[in-house]
Amino acid sequence: MSFRLILAGPPGAGKGTQATTVSERLGIPAISTGEIFRSEMASQSDVGLEAQRYISEGNLVPDSVTNEIVRRRLAQPDAAEGFLLDGYPRTLDQISALDEMLADDGLSIDAMLDIEISDEEIMGRLLKRAEIEGRADDTPEVIAHRISVYHEATEPILDAFRERGKLISINGLGTIGEVRERIVAAVNERLGLD
Ligand code: AMP
Repeated sequence: MSFRLILAGPPGAGKGTQATTVSERLGIPAISTGEIFRSEMASQSDVGLEAQRYISEGNLVPDSVTNEIVRRRLAQPDAAEGFLLDGYPRTLDQISALDEMLADDGLSIDAMLDIEISDEEIMGRLLKRAEIEGRADDTPEVIAHRISVYHEATEPILDAFRERGKLISINGLGTIGEVRERIVAAVNERLGLD
């Protein structure tokens, strides 16, 4: 069986951690646009240098750039039998682009899993992560800006998937293990697995 899933949620919701579990469980690659950008920045490629300007200020990388890296990544052989997108789509334009990429092959997204946490929780978690990982975009000012970008640009995408009957909301409070259990249960139920 092939599954095409999206993992959404505000910064700090634990998307990256949970994406690993879900992808291993379902045998599909986890594709994180944030990770791709970080590796492009590390190698100082053209895409990396362009993305850096936006990422360092907590802004979204322009849709044209982001859609193109996803288009290229989804064309890789390991994504042919399904994938879990982590952190994409984040804008309505990205939804349209993704729909088109899939429609070319007669495919569509099975479900969007949205990990929900409050703004206060986001700030606390990201400040803690800053101490551990030292990510340049985890400073208090940049975090605050990323939270507002999330509410303005990204929350509307939840409505789009809700209208399609594809949105699954997950309570993101609790330990990594507790949230993982909720995600696994929701995925099993939606995809008819056991
Ligand atoms: P993340 O690791 O998902 O928190 O992403 C880190 C940063 O990469 C974000 O704050 C954005 O600047 C950029 N980014 C990641 N995914 C996207 C996307 N789908 N659209 C635009 N920018 C993105």
